[in-house]
Amino acid sequence: MSEPATGGCLCGAVRYEVRGPLRDILICHCVECRRWHGNAAASTAAARADLALTGQRGLRWIASPESDAHARRGFCGECGSSLFWDAPGRDYVAIAAGSLDGETGLRIAGHWFTSQKGDWYELPVDGLPQHERSAATEGSAP
Ligand SMILES: [Zn+2]
Ligand SMILES: [Zn+2]
Repeated sequence: MSEPATGGCLCGAVRYEVRGPLRDILICHCVECRRWHGNAAASTAAARADLALTGQRGLRWIASPESDAHARRGFCGECGSSLFWDAPGRDYVAIAAGSLDGETGLRIAGHWFTSQKGDWYELPVDGLPQHERSAATEGSAP
């Protein structure tokens, strides 16, 4: 990627750059993502070392209370945008795909935690992998 991907919150009090590749998008249907994002969450991810905060005045973190991975979630305390999922020991940080600027070139790669999805929608028949929990045995990711 020549230009770093950029993104941020609704009000601009949190801005970031990703100076490396972005993972394709996982849709997480888990209860914690649903509460935090308002519905199933579309998340990309970047290597921790590639994520640079270029504006962090609004950045706040909360624990994700039932996270298998003891993750914390980063958001903008000024406008409320949900932005990051970060677990100790992981070499990547998940990023809310909707916070990216402009064209991303990313595609959805699969669905996680389908066992916890809301009952008001059906899972898409998109041929992508669907996992009752996460694809990784080591725990959950958004
Ligand atoms: Zn904001
Ligand atoms: Zn989730």
